[in-house]
Amino acid sequence: MFHVKLFIMITIEKCNICGSKNFKSFLELKDYFLSEEKFYITECKDCGFKFTNPYPDENHISSYYKSEKYVSHSNTKKGIFFKLYHLVKKNAINSKKRLIESYVQKGRILDYGCGTGDFLSAFISEHWDCYGIEPDDNTRLYASEKHKLPINKPNDLTIFEDCFFDVISMWHVLEHIPDLNTKLRQLRTLLKPNGIIVIAVPNSDSYDARYYGNYWAAFDVPRHLHHFNHTSLTALLEKNEFEILSRKPMHFDSFYVSILSEKYKKSFLSFFKGIAIGLFSNFMASQKNLNYSSIIYIIRKKP
Ligand SMILES: [Zn+2]
Repeated sequence: MFHVKLFIMITIEKCNICGSKNFKSFLELKDYFLSEEKFYITECKDCGFKFTNPYPDENHISSYYKSEKYVSHSNTKKGIFFKLYHLVKKNAINSKKRLIESYVQKGRILDYGCGTGDFLSAFISEHWDCYGIEPDDNTRLYASEKHKLPINKPNDLTIFEDCFFDVISMWHVLEHIPDLNTKLRQLRTLLKPNGIIVIAVPNSDSYDARYYGNYWAAFDVPRHLHHFNHTSLTALLEKNEFEILSRKPMHFDSFYVSILSEKYKKSFLSFFKGIAIGLFSNFMASQKNLNYSSIIYIIRKKP
């Protein structure tokens, strides 16, 4: 797939959260999902924030997404793994909607990184005006045609007035965005004073992350640029003047990520081992520290 390699890698020299230049290396790992290339995760010695460093610049990162295998952008239903994934996805959409409607019952919702628009389409009703942002050209076109919804490019955020949205959702998106602080500030400006932002991210402190180490599928380098835990995400939100209203587990992610990690390890009986580790990860998180594989944060602007 990669015939010509003209990569421009960007090296991070200053921590995006605390500004420190004091780093140590955390992990050396491969892009098991697509390219098999080697990448590195750096940890800030001062605040503990972990990030892919160096990372491909924005003109080249898209080549790491172009694959039928990338399930969040794909609608193929081949194989038991994908069938199960889509079934779980449907249930997950309903529970995400219920969660949002427990805070805000109607208004304007923006799904940032909406993919094929399936989450957003669940909100189509007299109660909600739906908007999406999707960087990939083909996916954006597909989503807006399929659901008849206004879906724009990330750079088009400027078309919206300040305080326009009641809800902004980012389902496994924040870890893909290079300019974290700029983006969060921009979204903050677009949010109504009593609006909420819903952010779901993988948790690098989860049991499955520690168990799988460099095989952990949710490191997903180089697509994931940032590898949050509760401490680093809280610090990032604090820095950008948000407060956390609540923190909810995503129970299915531990299974999905663990099965994928077992596949990357080329394990025998990867499906069943993944289920077992996913189950154990959820159990550990529920007993100890709420360090689930993925976590949903409901946040709002600090008053
Ligand atoms: Zn730092």
